[in-house]
Order: sequence, then structure tokens, then C-alpha cells
Amino acid sequence: MPKNPESKQDREGLLRCPKCASPMQPVVHQDTEVDRCTNCQGLWFDLLEHEDLKRDDDSENLDLGDAAKGKTMDKVQDIQCPVCRTAMLKMIDRDRKDIHFEACATCYGVFFDAGEFRDWKKHHAFDWLKSLLARERK
Ligand SMILES: [Zn+2]
Ligand SMILES: [Zn+2]
Repeated sequence: MPKNPESKQDREGLLRCPKCASPMQPVVHQDTEVDRCTNCQGLWFDLLEHEDLKRDDDSENLDLGDAAKGKTMDKVQDIQCPVCRTAMLKMIDRDRKDIHFEACATCYGVFFDAGEFRDWKKHHAFDWLKSLLARERK
């Protein structure tokens, strides 16, 4: 996947949080830039960025939000992808049914509520992309 450093500028400035509509601020971990909500501290990852970050030491420190607040935000349903505006799919970790996150089937971005990325990384993620494609091709 070639990196396109222009892509974030093309989207009329900052992304809006899909859950609380607050501006999201770019944060960089090593070579990967993700977006973090300035209010609920949810994290937005473009295509496979969370998979890259899963392998990086200390990437869980990107997720500095309060997990209790994340749990509240987790109840926000039917959100739209902040990049392409399609309805996002609710994903559930196969091994940890309490870990939920949202994925966009169009641009493959994913959104984690505060505390969820930390949890997800810790408990090894399943290959969500493969499962997503398998579901689409049924
Ligand atoms: Zn938010
Ligand atoms: Zn999208």
C-alpha cells in the first residue's frame, strides 16, 4: 500500500469524529499517522494502519483515552465513515467478544473507542480484513 501523504489534506482539513463529531487531531507514531478525537479520544486508522501499529512497540500509548468513556461511546450506533461517509460495520473480535470496533467496508478505515485499541492490541487481533472480505464475497 503506497503511502499518500497528501490524502489527509484533500479531505477539507481535519476529520470529524464519527461518534461525537468533534475534530480529530493527527498523531504520529513512528512512521504512521492516525487521527485521535479531541473529545472522546477515539482513534481512526486508515487502511491497515492498525495492523502496522499492532506490531509496533508502545503503539498502545496512542490510545490514551479513558476506557470508561470509551465504553459510553461504544453505545453510539450507526455511525458513518468520516472519510467516505458510508455506514460503518460493527466488528466483534472473535476471541474477545467484548472488544468492538467499527470498520468501513469501502475505504477499510477502522475506528476504536478510547481503550479499545489498547485492549485489541493486547489480546492479539484476528485478521479482520480477511474476515471482512470473506463476508462480502459470500
Ligand atoms: Zn469523538
Ligand atoms: Zn470509508
